[in-house]
Amino acid sequence: MSHTYDVINPATEKLVQTIEHLDLEGTDAVIAKAAKAFETWRHVAPGERAKMLRRFADVIADHKEELAQLEIANSGHTRGNALWEVDNVVNVLTYYSAAPERLFGRQIPVAGGIDVTFKEPLGVVAVIVPWNFPMPIAGWGFAPALAAGNTVVLKPAEYTPLTAMRIGELALLAGIPSGVFNVLPGKGSIVGARFVTHPAVRKVVFTGSTQVGKGIMAGCADQVKRVTLELGGKSSNIIFADADIEKAAAAAPGSFLDNAGQDCCARSRILIQKSAFDKFMEHFESAIKKFRVEDPSLATAEMGPLISRKQYDVVQTFLDEPVAFTGSAPSGPGYWMAPTVLLPKNTQARSWREEVFGPVVSVMTFEDEADAISMANDSEYGLSGSIWTRDIGRALRVSRGVETGNLSVNSHSSVRYWTPFGGFKQSGLGRELGPDALDSFTEVKNVFISND
Ligand code: NAP
Ligand code: MG
Repeated sequence: MSHTYDVINPATEKLVQTIEHLDLEGTDAVIAKAAKAFETWRHVAPGERAKMLRRFADVIADHKEELAQLEIANSGHTRGNALWEVDNVVNVLTYYSAAPERLFGRQIPVAGGIDVTFKEPLGVVAVIVPWNFPMPIAGWGFAPALAAGNTVVLKPAEYTPLTAMRIGELALLAGIPSGVFNVLPGKGSIVGARFVTHPAVRKVVFTGSTQVGKGIMAGCADQVKRVTLELGGKSSNIIFADADIEKAAAAAPGSFLDNAGQDCCARSRILIQKSAFDKFMEHFESAIKKFRVEDPSLATAEMGPLISRKQYDVVQTFLDEPVAFTGSAPSGPGYWMAPTVLLPKNTQARSWREEVFGPVVSVMTFEDEADAISMANDSEYGLSGSIWTRDIGRALRVSRGVETGNLSVNSHSSVRYWTPFGGFKQSGLGRELGPDALDSFTEVKNVFISND
């Protein structure tokens, strides 16, 4: 028996659409369909599969405005972000559409014959997507998976199913054969959990909370199922006194307020060298006051609402620490929250240790380079981070010293579709994007052919 689910606009609290959720039987039926489609999809000629993926990218690009509007209504993303997110799916698909003809194996010297390796697809790959970046995170999973010859079952988050469902329809419109790319709206505890236990699913790509990710990894152990995990973060923005402090202060709001802070890469810890604290805070405050939190459909919006009442309530529990200053937010309906800057008393404070996933940052000072590195590394997470300094040697030393998967120096960029992305420690397992992600969607097969 299936159930319906009401998708709510987080900026207005109004109903966007009611959708059907899959139950266990429905989930099994789609997995069976994907397993069947694998038998033909894996044998599609490389050039033909590449052409289909390029057509898929083109059809998504043709629906850019529609998909962006859906994301604004469903997720409260700013117009600027939503348009970027559609482009990201198009770019990731286009990038991996070059892969089918380039899935090279090796020829390894041996006596008595030849030895060659093949990169074989895995079969049905499951992608479990969180609500914070519904389109990009879906694409990072399904694009390389399809390019490598796998078929895909994808579960969007309950809160944010609409763009994934539409992209599923666009796949068919683009000529991707039925059963190759399947979107299954439903609950994590039903659809997502079934991906872990179903024997035909050969790999799970999960992005979300560390807690659920650990459960998925444990569940996958039963079938030695392949797993990629992109989990939480508590990333540091480390600012040295020798940096361009005004520039660092002007850039800091975007580094933790993008997507209302609901970003696993959010630099939710600011480490400022003690001698530059006063100057930094003065410029940082004026940048926070200027940050535009408003109706996300406006082209000028820099931040929209939080995703849900529940997420809003969770974020409020962090506000019992000293507040340095706040920005502004609309009042009235919607899950709005003003940007908030905290001054935790010590490194044991909750806001310093836990992922907030809201528009909140904690600021602390450090004495010297060694102090900065040890404070940054004092976390079970290790996803991203930034370093601001004019000293190139220091930039190098600190980059090598911080235990995290993605760093930027004198900027806050962290995700480019052609470079690897993923976490150290409890921030994840494996890497997505870039040239090597295809290895996570294939098995290496070694074949020796005798001269006889
Ligand atoms: P979550 O529970 O980890 O959800 C992520 C995805 O996993 C969703 O599609 C979810 O489905 C699914 N899921 C949940 N339980 C599952 C299970 N037992 N088996 C298989 N799939 C399952 O994350 P959340 O509850 O949405 O957010 C909680 C916190 O996680 C946030 O406040 C934030 O701190 C963190 N988070 C991190 C990221 C990130 O990018 N690293 C993203 C989102 C959230 P449902 O939607 O049906 O629950
Ligand atoms: Mg959850």
